[in-house]
Amino acid sequence: MVIHSAKTILDTIQAVKGAKVVITTHHKPDADAMGSSLGLRQFLMRIGCSVTLITPTDYASFLKWMKGEADTIVFEDQVETATAITQAADFIFCLDFNQLSRINEFGDVVGNAKALKILIDHHQYPQGFEDFTYWDDKASSTCELVYRFIQEAGMSDLIDTDTAACLYTGIVTDTGSFRFNSCSSTTMRIAADLMDKGINHSSIFDSVYDSFSESRVKFIGYAISQKLEVLPEYNTALITINHEELKRFNITTGDTEGLVNYGLSIEGIRFAVLIIDRSKLVKMSFRSKGQFAANVFAMNHFNGGGHFHAAGGSSTASLEDTIEQFKTALISYKDQLHG
Ligand code: 5GP
Ligand code: MN
Repeated sequence: MVIHSAKTILDTIQAVKGAKVVITTHHKPDADAMGSSLGLRQFLMRIGCSVTLITPTDYASFLKWMKGEADTIVFEDQVETATAITQAADFIFCLDFNQLSRINEFGDVVGNAKALKILIDHHQYPQGFEDFTYWDDKASSTCELVYRFIQEAGMSDLIDTDTAACLYTGIVTDTGSFRFNSCSSTTMRIAADLMDKGINHSSIFDSVYDSFSESRVKFIGYAISQKLEVLPEYNTALITINHEELKRFNITTGDTEGLVNYGLSIEGIRFAVLIIDRSKLVKMSFRSKGQFAANVFAMNHFNGGGHFHAAGGSSTASLEDTIEQFKTALISYKDQLHG
């Protein structure tokens, strides 16, 4: 795979006066997806582009403070408008995903658009639908990559406080607050540069982690005390949530984020799984420690993917059947999970 330089990509964009740019990111965008998209949007607007962020679906309310967020078009709410803007675009940036299936029905619109497509991403196994690739699966986050993209082009001066706040947020969340292996010394230097742009890092942390609704906190307590199952023979912890429970606790987009991690905080657990019945699909989140590849498991059994230690997948079977399939799939990993 050819990795393009920031200069090559920006020269191409700047050759088109007032270039029309669409930025998109994966469905149910998280902080890295929204932070990188809105951070890049501010930057591209500053170099004279006209930029629209189109997300496939909605996103958590704790991200709604980010600069420019209110201008976002949600594809599933405004299919015609989003399609027209995408068809007229000169360039489409695809951030924090690398397979068109990750943007749902919007994938066909992006795939068929005449625009040149630019990928900025840190997930493994890119599909290769794009024209320009800015990719590094060792990067902590897409926010880190957007920073490196701007810095490599020699334009870090164009990162203002609001842009820095967007990029910092995705770095914090995708590194688990600077604790995952993916957090390198480069990541720390970038975070420091972003702090020097005048962000209030403590208030960002507050917005993201200390802004839960009462019912979300009670839901977490319920899930851990009533729904957590430990499978000691596989060093695995599992939480399953049905549709009635989502309704009972009034769970909305983003409220289940982070829940899967509680399983991993038990001593000896190497693999943690969250299985949620989302009506149309059963969604699964996988987290692992050590040598166990969560993304390979997700890919092999649940039509998914992601990172080595953090991946996701889905199933069209019922919740009960999916749980059974999961437990059956585990059997052949017994040695790996004990190794
Ligand atoms: P989460 O569990 O937070 O939804 O996702 C964890 C990681 O796995 C993220 O990096 C996300 O992009 C990836 N991921 C989640 N669900 C899927 C999926 O269905 N397919 C693929 N390819 N990746 C996924
Ligand atoms: Mn990410």
